[in-house]
Amino acid sequence: MAFAALDLHPTLLRGVADLGFVQPTPIQSKAIPIALGGGDLLACAATGSGKTAAFLLPILNGLLDKPRGTTRALVLAPTRELALQIVDDLRGLARHTPVTGAAVHGGVGMGPQKAAFRNGADVIVATPGRLLDHFQYDYAGLKGVEYLVLDEADRMLDMGFLPDIKRVLRHIPTPKQTFFFSATMPPPIERLTRDILRNPAKVALQRKAAPAKGVTQAIYTVPTALKGALLVDLLKGEEIDDALVFTRTKHRADRLTKLLNRNGINAERIHGNRSQAQRTRALAGFKAGDHRVLVATDIAARGIDVDSLGHVVNFDVPNVPEDYIHRVGRTARAEATGKAFTLVGPEDESDMGRIERAVGAKIPRCKLDGFAYGATPEPPLEVPRGERIAAIRAKKAEDRARAAAKAKRKAEGARGITQGRASSGPAASDDASGRPRRRRYGKRR
Ligand code: ADP
Ligand code: MG
Repeated sequence: MAFAALDLHPTLLRGVADLGFVQPTPIQSKAIPIALGGGDLLACAATGSGKTAAFLLPILNGLLDKPRGTTRALVLAPTRELALQIVDDLRGLARHTPVTGAAVHGGVGMGPQKAAFRNGADVIVATPGRLLDHFQYDYAGLKGVEYLVLDEADRMLDMGFLPDIKRVLRHIPTPKQTFFFSATMPPPIERLTRDILRNPAKVALQRKAAPAKGVTQAIYTVPTALKGALLVDLLKGEEIDDALVFTRTKHRADRLTKLLNRNGINAERIHGNRSQAQRTRALAGFKAGDHRVLVATDIAARGIDVDSLGHVVNFDVPNVPEDYIHRVGRTARAEATGKAFTLVGPEDESDMGRIERAVGAKIPRCKLDGFAYGATPEPPLEVPRGERIAAIRAKKAEDRARAAAKAKRKAEGARGITQGRASSGPAASDDASGRPRRRRYGKRR
């Protein structure tokens, strides 16, 4: 099937052609005719299957035949990266039309985003929290919304956005059409769809969740403490040019980035504690090839779309199979080929087993030639929380003991020495430890 066979306005077909899309992906060829026909839509398809254009094209088509000036479509997305990506896609598809789109997300000032509401951007793509912030003001009425999209609905639920989504729905008029897009359809999502969709047409491209075709998956089994060293060796070898590397926590993302850079591998990181400007810069630098490796946490990686990203490395095994599929979906998007490597330590085996059952395949295990599997391990990337707390407690107890001993010595000394000495001491002291008085500031953030 060709795009021309879909009943889309010629200006949109030109936008599609400019983006280099020749044929609609399966989800696009199924969803677009349904959406163009009116009515609600529930679509479930793997990450990277082309869902964005599947909802944007019919909406853009609908927006073209009426006068503009009010916001008529609202897209909800879980992260700022994803919101920005969707607006980017919109601008590409709509480039031969007058339709405008704007992103509304946290991490940047509210001021510039007001204009999107005031000027009536045709499509607003928003993260739920920031949208609710704007709803407190009159300018953000959104009374003209006809199309509503929930994109990456599963992820929005995982991130706890359900109450926010419900508040958004109460604030806007009942849309003419609601589109619900998700990579997976767990029971809470099904319940949500029953609440908000009216008699939806359903398009599900696969029952069983599985990574996109064309991804070669492999597992490197390795002692946990040697994961860092193994990744360094993998990256120094022939096999990998650039890679998106996933860690479980922000802290581990920071540490791993440092480890890679120390070993001469140019790496950047992207996670929820970094400012929007930092994230945008890291992503742009990675896309431009300035750094070979982008280290990311799952949530920050949503919406990352890098053309021809060759490799995904799961430095940490994801806790849930869906995250594995999402991560691996970052490579081999839209039918290209890519590789997904997972570093598996002994304690990861049970999570890995669940993932293999969920994807319905045994993933081949391999060893890296020439790697010193028996080497002395690096210190761990992250000292376990319990150990960290114990170390802090021990240090505090030691400090207290030292202060007490010192106070005792002082008291004993004072008994034998004349009065004048204490007052001519070097500095006034605010406690028994004899430390000079020093103003203590709160930790700056
Ligand atoms: P999803 O939302 O399902 O994860 P996206 O909509 O982000 O997937 O699309 C994934 C990638 O595929 C993007 O880089 C997009 O530009 C590309 N793409 C989408 N549709 C097509 C198409 N019909 N032909 C070729 N590439 C496409
Ligand atoms: Mg998407």
